[in-house]
Amino acid sequence: MLIDQYNEVKERVRAACERAGRNPEDVTVVAVSKTKPLSMIEELKDCGVMDFGENKVQEITKKYEQITSPVRWHMIGHFQTNKVKYIVDKVALVHSVDSVKLARQISKEAVKHKVEVPVLIQVNLAKEESKSGFYEEELYGALEEISSLPGIQVEGLMQIAPFVENPQDNRIYFRRMRQLFVDIKEKNFDNIAMNILSMGMTNDYEVAVEEGSTMVRVGTGIFGERDYSK
Ligand SMILES: *Cc1c(COP(=O)(O)O)cnc(C)c1O
Repeated sequence: MLIDQYNEVKERVRAACERAGRNPEDVTVVAVSKTKPLSMIEELKDCGVMDFGENKVQEITKKYEQITSPVRWHMIGHFQTNKVKYIVDKVALVHSVDSVKLARQISKEAVKHKVEVPVLIQVNLAKEESKSGFYEEELYGALEEISSLPGIQVEGLMQIAPFVENPQDNRIYFRRMRQLFVDIKEKNFDNIAMNILSMGMTNDYEVAVEEGSTMVRVGTGIFGERDYSK
């Protein structure tokens, strides 16, 4: 049963919190359901799981229309500005704001649809070319520009850490993200809240939680391996 896998993740999060002297209630598990059928989402939803992560606009809109009762959809992948209009009123949180241009478009569509869109700013700490996100030195400038946009509420930061064999190797990146998160929070910028720190995936979420993650995005660890051949 999927809920057993989910509960196993919750248990590991709880244990990581205990090691770090944190409250497990401060960590949200987002079940990353990309490529997985709606039936699996429904199965978890029937057990009370409400947060699901997707990385494609088309997949979110399709599942959004087909699901039998509402859940919280998290947009976690890079997407084009011309697709913003399809999801701006459907997602609970956009994790992947990786350019000021994208933020402007979200703002524009949010105003048009009369919604307020909560977003996270994606940071590419390791400067990996294969990943999007702001470099650390671009972050403050970007936050300043984004903070003035209507219809968009910055709630925190997101990072996709490098792919590593040993999750301990990512500890330095999680620690640095947590430091940025705290530094920005202390500056008390207008319209910039630092409530959510989205980091940690199947391979490394326990280390991420030990280092202060408040939202982990777990796919394989709940749903099993993804099949991209279909
Ligand atoms: C696919 C994906 C995840 C989940 O990855 P797993 O290793 O399967 O847990 C998390 N975050 C993002 C941004 C993803 O694209």
